[in-house]
Amino acid sequence: MLQENEHIKCLIIGSGPAGYTAAIYAARADLKPVLYTGIVPGGQLTQTTDVENFPGYPDGVQGTQMMEDFRKQAERFGTDIRFGYITSVEFSNDVHRVVVDGEKTVTAETVIIATGATAKWLGLESEQKYNGFGVSACAVCDGFFFRGQDVAIVGAGDTAAEEATYLAKLANKVHMLVRRDEFRASKAMQHRVLNTPNIEIHYNTEAKEIIGDGQSVTGVLVYHNQTLEERLLPVTGFFVAIGHKPNTELFKGILDMDTNGYLITHPGSTRTNIEGVFACGDVQDHIYRQAVTAAGTGCMAALEAERYLAAKEHAIV
Ligand code: NDP
Repeated sequence: MLQENEHIKCLIIGSGPAGYTAAIYAARADLKPVLYTGIVPGGQLTQTTDVENFPGYPDGVQGTQMMEDFRKQAERFGTDIRFGYITSVEFSNDVHRVVVDGEKTVTAETVIIATGATAKWLGLESEQKYNGFGVSACAVCDGFFFRGQDVAIVGAGDTAAEEATYLAKLANKVHMLVRRDEFRASKAMQHRVLNTPNIEIHYNTEAKEIIGDGQSVTGVLVYHNQTLEERLLPVTGFFVAIGHKPNTELFKGILDMDTNGYLITHPGSTRTNIEGVFACGDVQDHIYRQAVTAAGTGCMAALEAERYLAAKEHAIV
């Protein structure tokens, strides 16, 4: 049975840089924000190591530490931060209703969506079979378990490059599977990979199957996608770093989204197609996808929520 309704001014869904920045601004504007963290408090940055490009940290910072700092700052101004997952939403142009963990309903005058994006998988059956038993989408979370061993990583973007260099510090050898004959990663990240002696790059190479003994991973069968030649790489860890999918399942059929599922906001704004509902961070950004841009749009969302509420109150008076 659903618990009693709670009514709030500003509901924030998500706890990455966008959600927490929205919370800092909303709390300082006295909107008394309530923030639901989702199942990964701190979001994607808790699954990375060094963040060297966020202004204000001249010596770099660990992703987990940075998100801890964001959280503390949001709390300092009175954000009510709750561990919980929104299981359904009902948006109207007036008041918005969400259900938390399938049991509690909350109505909100404004909603700021900052649900981010999650890692993509290759879609191999063996990948799911050994997920958590040698297969991982997070080198920072699981790299530790493969100290001194040989591992493989799939992907050629910045995430894959970053994770490969991270793994190279722990593992004996890192096989990097790149499906084209070039990287997508920035030149700086490529440079790091190419200058790490224990990373072997396999171009035009894809994973066909992850091999295991039923308990854990013992290798990966790869093939050259031009010659179709197959090869077994003896690895005990298999990391997938091929990009992300926006977390927008909840909003399907309710909010406008593009063909890849990213929420569509009005140009130069965080407004969605429903009044009082705003979207910020990676959930609406497939271009920049940076912590600093997520924080920037989080700030915009809170300012827009505040102005929306002020205009609404003004209209009533
Ligand atoms: P990207 O979308 O940039 O890259 C995904 C990579 O995975 C591509 O190289 C792609 O290959 C490859 N890929 C996708 N599907 C498959 C598949 N089925 N099999 C094999 N390979 C596959 O995602 P990232 O997560 O790397 O980066 C996302 C954004 O975040 C980017 O804008 C990036 O710059 C940013 N970022 C920044 C960081 C930093 O500044 N510190 C760190 C991490 C990310 P292909 O190239 O052939 O399409």
